[in-house]
Amino acid sequence: MNHFEQIKALDDQYVMHTYGRFPVAVVEGKNARCTDADGKTYIDMTSGIGVNALGFCDEGWIRAVTDQLCKIAHISNLYYTLPCIQAAQILCQRTGMKKVFFANGGAEANEGAIKAARKYAFMKYGPGRNKIITLKNSFHGRTVTTLAATGQEVFHNYFFPFTEGFDFAAAGDLDDLKAKCAGDVCAVMVELVQGEGGVVPVSKDYIQKVAAFCRENDILLIVDEVQTGVGRTGSLYCFQQYGIQPDIVTSAKGIGGGLPLAAVLFGEKTENALQPGHHATTFGGNPVACAGAVEVLNRLDDAFLAEVSKKGAYITQRVMKMPHVKSVSGMGLMLGIELDEGLKAADVVRAGIQNGVLLLTAKAKVRLLPPLTIPYEQIDQALDALEKTLAEL
Ligand SMILES: *Cc1c(COP(=O)(O)O)cnc(C)c1O
Repeated sequence: MNHFEQIKALDDQYVMHTYGRFPVAVVEGKNARCTDADGKTYIDMTSGIGVNALGFCDEGWIRAVTDQLCKIAHISNLYYTLPCIQAAQILCQRTGMKKVFFANGGAEANEGAIKAARKYAFMKYGPGRNKIITLKNSFHGRTVTTLAATGQEVFHNYFFPFTEGFDFAAAGDLDDLKAKCAGDVCAVMVELVQGEGGVVPVSKDYIQKVAAFCRENDILLIVDEVQTGVGRTGSLYCFQQYGIQPDIVTSAKGIGGGLPLAAVLFGEKTENALQPGHHATTFGGNPVACAGAVEVLNRLDDAFLAEVSKKGAYITQRVMKMPHVKSVSGMGLMLGIELDEGLKAADVVRAGIQNGVLLLTAKAKVRLLPPLTIPYEQIDQALDALEKTLAEL
């Protein structure tokens, strides 16, 4: 039971068909290199959709996680455990945020942020101030509420009734946002680089104006850093490059270094918004996942983050010279490649697999989210394979 066709047959039979999988069964890896069930190797430019911040099988991360695994794997949030406290302390000290709630995934972190924002406004203004404005083309998750928060019509289907209280402003259009922020709005929620929406950075000037407008009107600013956070864009959190201090930041994907973990970071206004009984999750702050997070966060020092930006710039200048490339968007190691008209990103991903590189799409773009630790040698291999793939189109 090792070969791809056998693995695929069992998946077809037993696993719910919710994913359009590519025909590869990855069995092991080291940093950005991995091997499939039939022994073929690839350079991974996906990091499990921005999750494996330190790549596959990072030695420090394995040590941190297995040490914790040998002490205690789970006990519940009714008791104190050290790893989640350590992770929370690092997160607060390095972001200026005040408190952390741990969850298990991005959508769940956003649910926590939404609940906290509504509770803050309820306690201060009474019922009625509960609307949240998000941006058009955003993506905030797959739960019924975070689908409702997602500013793309394609996601508002089948699962009616969706959670009420969301409206969508055009990114970059301050007047549109202001017009939608009536007295019933408690929060604005944004991604700084729209990930699933096609690796689209939102302008710094616009975001700073949104932040000022929110502050003046006691509207909370929630920044969804599920994809942009944890070093991905060259700073620990992307908002740190935007010159703003959000009221709530959500983080997931890379934070556990490969284990399911998410965090909601609360600022001064919201640090006491949720009290015992208002919010909880059984696995949140799991000691093993948090031990992984402590290792990830400690590794992401200034020198490491500067390397992320340098690698991103290096990749960008090489990709810009490749055939069929119209533009490259994004920040750090979160990059989107716009292709010539008529070319399909999914075709590039499929052909890339043949040439030994794993890629992602984001709408019409080819998206790169390599592990932050990827060495230049593996970057070059991946880019050689990408260049060959594009030249063959
Ligand atoms: C991936 C993503 C989510 C959803 O995270 P899950 O862990 O899949 O629930 C939410 N927001 C953004 C910006 C994301 O990229």
